[in-house]
Amino acid sequence: QENKFQAIISHAKEYGFVFPSSEIYDGLSAVYDYGPNGCELKKNLRDYWWKSMTQLHENIVGVDAAIFMHPTTWKASGHVDNFSDPMIDNKDSQKRYRVDHLLEARADALREKGAEKEADALIAEMDRLLAAEDFVALKQLIADQQIVCAISGTGNWTDIRQFNLMFSTQLGSVAGEADTIYLRPETAQGIFVNFLNVQKTARMKIPFGIAQTGKAFRNEIVARQFIFRMREFEQMEMQFFIRPGTQKEWYNYWKETRLQWHLSLGIPAEKYRYHDHVKLAHYADAALDIEYEFPFGFKEVEGIHSRTDFDLKNHQEYSKKKQQYFDNDIDEATGKPYGNYIPYVIETSIGLDRMFLLILSQSYEEETLTKEDGTADSRVVMRIPAKIAPNKLAILPLVKKDGLPEIARELMNECKQHFKCFYEEKDAIGKRYRRQDAIGTPFCVTIDHQTKEDNTVTIRHRDSMLQERIPISKVKEIVQAAL
Ligand code: ATP
Repeated sequence: QENKFQAIISHAKEYGFVFPSSEIYDGLSAVYDYGPNGCELKKNLRDYWWKSMTQLHENIVGVDAAIFMHPTTWKASGHVDNFSDPMIDNKDSQKRYRVDHLLEARADALREKGAEKEADALIAEMDRLLAAEDFVALKQLIADQQIVCAISGTGNWTDIRQFNLMFSTQLGSVAGEADTIYLRPETAQGIFVNFLNVQKTARMKIPFGIAQTGKAFRNEIVARQFIFRMREFEQMEMQFFIRPGTQKEWYNYWKETRLQWHLSLGIPAEKYRYHDHVKLAHYADAALDIEYEFPFGFKEVEGIHSRTDFDLKNHQEYSKKKQQYFDNDIDEATGKPYGNYIPYVIETSIGLDRMFLLILSQSYEEETLTKEDGTADSRVVMRIPAKIAPNKLAILPLVKKDGLPEIARELMNECKQHFKCFYEEKDAIGKRYRRQDAIGTPFCVTIDHQTKEDNTVTIRHRDSMLQERIPISKVKEIVQAAL
């Protein structure tokens, strides 16, 4: 599995999905750039999420808030005081680790040795101690587990301390306390501070949601595992505003609805599981992760959080501006309208880059094949769901002459109005097919000499490698049907 993960990382670079940031300067740790195929896939994923949220739910609308926000936002949200992780330093190697990552790595190592039960017990104990913020016992747990530093090979640890994950910078020219602003560590606060603007201008009635996609920044200490944990990443978040007391029902609704979204991409259910939080974040009364089985184990891809009225209530207190909603529906218990209240919130929060990694992990396959003459062959195929694949159709004239490119161009001009196509006339056809397999193009169409006679082409299906002869006039609708 580790080999598969390394192969995915190399493949992502070789085929223009993901590059290390500023690579000519040897990269920047935990920061990545998306190449031509990567940015298409990422955009398609974002659009797929956006459509499912805002188009298929009539009661969800969007916002696009700025990354910079008034610094008081982060006081009110609790991020200045609470957005930190317990860290521990190894004195010999002078390396810093997140306590949970260190213990998770130890649990993974135990699992590899077949000690499943011990690993589960370790994670349960870690969750318990983190929830109790018992740093002395946690340090002892690390020592007991004989977690040794990869470099120094000793277990000489400092005490555990909290480390804030927000990046800060200065607004304007004068450096000083008052001018310190933060790069947002989550997009959610841009939704909360706009709650009334959106509710009033879009004339929304509770229950309703606000969706947003955009960059977030966290000074992650242990940044490893490629684009799984980045310092600059993109989130797709939705805050669903509800009547207090209905949070259980809506929490369950979104828990189910979001899992269905993942499954709608054709990913098998057994690759997913829910993980209920034991240690709740400072704002939540219930929380769970939707986890996917990455090549390095089951890990969070999305969080569902019941955030109560924590955020709006604090913004009301800090801003001195009422953050209330007037609900004129009748409360059956009293026979009167529900009246004014600060809404409760259910949040769904998914990392776009992490979802991208999920798609790469799920799609990548090294397939062994048998050639017609019986000899062994192989291919790398990215089984990316057609609706999010970077290119939907590759149009390939068999040779660069005899009028074939002209026919191919005509088809290209027709189809590219409707979906993303790729045109190529260089190299042997087998080689061209392999390149399309490697970037996940679901269909290839080959124009050959027979096309000139009977207006038929060969369409090749990526997953089965089956080829059929079809009228050229049918190409567009076959591809569209798969989307
Ligand atoms: P983790 O425990 O992995 O640090 P988290 O619980 O802090 O994640 P949330 O604050 O719930 O994550 O953020 C919601 C989603 O944003 C996560 O499910 C994940 O997909 C994504 N995300 C969070 N941090 C990162 C990161 N550093 N890089 C990439 N994606 C991230």
